[in-house]
Amino acid sequence: MDENERLVAYLKANGSIRRKDVERAFLDLPRHLFVPKDLQKEAYEDHPLPIGWGATISQPSIVASMTELLEPKKTDVILEVGTGSGWQAGIISRLVKQVYSIDIVPQLVEQAKENLKKTGIRNVEIKVGQGSNGWPEKAPFGGIIVTAAVPVIFETWVEQLKEGGRLLAPVGWPMQTMILGIKRGGKLEKKELYGCMFVPLQT
Ligand code: SAH
Repeated sequence: MDENERLVAYLKANGSIRRKDVERAFLDLPRHLFVPKDLQKEAYEDHPLPIGWGATISQPSIVASMTELLEPKKTDVILEVGTGSGWQAGIISRLVKQVYSIDIVPQLVEQAKENLKKTGIRNVEIKVGQGSNGWPEKAPFGGIIVTAAVPVIFETWVEQLKEGGRLLAPVGWPMQTMILGIKRGGKLEKKELYGCMFVPLQT
């Protein structure tokens, strides 16, 4: 068993990975490819790592759990806010038709594009922008995943979400509660899931 296989076995054992296709995505996209060289030896531990410009690559169990909670389908178009390393976007891209991802830091967008290119992924489009505006030209989305801490769930995102679509966002500061929202009758029905810590969404 290599290090990535061991990580996947651990994520299955703790319940973060349930779906076979999510397991496959993790095996196909080894995390060390999304981590700076000097930290690659830590890539298979279950904690976040700094990737520069104040950003972190999320902890594997959070990436797995957010991916599962999004309930991605092959026909979905998904929006991610907070591209970072591109790893979360890459994992989701294996399960859906298209991922659009936004980051506010141009250098991170360049780095994420490089990382995804190395892994042969073509269905992730990334742009530099203010994530709170969403990506109106590409809406509506079957799901929206926010990977930076926000004070509230912005109405723009709810507008850009399809009816029945799912939204995940860590809300609060300095600690967050992971919120799962499902759009029903034009409104977001929200559920509080678990405590977590993300870097803040810059305004
Ligand atoms: N999903 C990433 C981790 C994201 S860390 C991964 O898999 O590696 C949070 C990211 O949100 C950082 O890269 C940060 O630059 C970005 N960010 C912060 N404020 C933002 C904003 N207002 N709009 C878009 N992205 C933002």
